[in-house]
Amino acid sequence: MKIGIPREVQAGETRVALIPGLIPILIKDKHEVLVEAGAGVGAFFPDTQYAQAGASLVEDALAFYEQADIILKVQPPQMHPTTHLSEAEMVREGCAYIGFLSPFTRLDVIQTFARRKITAFAMEFVPRLTRAQSMDALSSMSTVAGYKAVLLATEHLGKMFPLLMTAAGTITPVTVLVLGAGVAGLQAIATAKRQGARVEAFDARPAVREQIQSLGATFIEMELPRNAETASGYATEQSAEFLKREQEVIRARFPGVDVVISTAQVFGKRAPLLVTCEMVKSLRPGSVIVDLAAEQGGNCELTRAGQTILYEGVTIVGATNVPALLPMTASQLYAHNVVNLFRYLYPATGLQPESSDALVKGTCVTRNGQIVHEMLQSLVREEVSG
Ligand code: NAD
Repeated sequence: MKIGIPREVQAGETRVALIPGLIPILIKDKHEVLVEAGAGVGAFFPDTQYAQAGASLVEDALAFYEQADIILKVQPPQMHPTTHLSEAEMVREGCAYIGFLSPFTRLDVIQTFARRKITAFAMEFVPRLTRAQSMDALSSMSTVAGYKAVLLATEHLGKMFPLLMTAAGTITPVTVLVLGAGVAGLQAIATAKRQGARVEAFDARPAVREQIQSLGATFIEMELPRNAETASGYATEQSAEFLKREQEVIRARFPGVDVVISTAQVFGKRAPLLVTCEMVKSLRPGSVIVDLAAEQGGNCELTRAGQTILYEGVTIVGATNVPALLPMTASQLYAHNVVNLFRYLYPATGLQPESSDALVKGTCVTRNGQIVHEMLQSLVREEVSG
């Protein structure tokens, strides 16, 4: 197959779907690799490295899309700034595609792919199976985001993180509160601990208590809901009553907190609202909130996605596309995830898994001109019935 790696066109996107180091594996599998010129520049992988690894470089975007049999991509398709076509229309009809697709919010792309007979796989839908862990890009990107969230907080906080005893007096460590301790939250806890902070954390899933404690952080106790977790390991949506009690518990911690890192999410839904405008007033001036759920509506009422605002002396960072702030690591991890999924779906032996295989069924969104993913089929039905 001719595997195509396009240049990402979204503003601020620095990642690339394939790093030069993985090209020899694909060539050994008897594939060709086409790279759109400049694809890796944002992640500090120059064209020369791709060429040295055996890829062919294509200058023109339309010529690139015309030649590739499968596209490996990071961002969902969008309007191309130079061709003025949607990237979903640029992928050659009948081709394959693997990448993030924001399937719940970009049904238009899914419908275009179905119409154009693209066989598309959504990285968001990689199931949480042991054999799919090496393909789980959501977890990889959450790891990067959780780490970087702490560094963003250090940039905005007017304090050093660790305990320091100096001739000029003792500096007490800062207190970091992490809300939501999934992959990103646990990485934020570990990073804040390494920076010398005191760390407290909370999650609605009871299983997380032990994980928080094993990282040396304090689990904030409250009565947790039953059935807090879906079969696939995600949190369930909590009742308004639980969220209200949760807000009270969080509010009680706020006067002693310097940094809040919020990561709470419910797969496919708006992020839960955990911090109200009133609650922000009980934080000390100079405190910082880094809201990693900004793109899903935010855990804080005041969060503005993509903006950093100051409210009553508190800095609120509406962090978006945080993995793109660490493009080398993020691209390295993402590329491994994508290549692992690609090699599973299109093995060198040519013996492709059946469409009923859990990984294929879980990730494939369009095939043979149809939307084949059950969740998306019901979304389309809802849209049609209005
Ligand atoms: P996520 O990004 O969907 O959500 C982040 C966190 O927010 C979760 O821990 C969730 O419980 C929490 N949350 C949701 N509502 C909340 C609320 N009201 N208050 C506080 N916290 C709330 O989740 P994630 O990080 O992708 O992963 C969740 C779990 O799945 C983790 O335990 C992770 O280890 C596990 N996981 C398993 C696999 C696998 O088995 N292959 C792969 C990835 C993740």
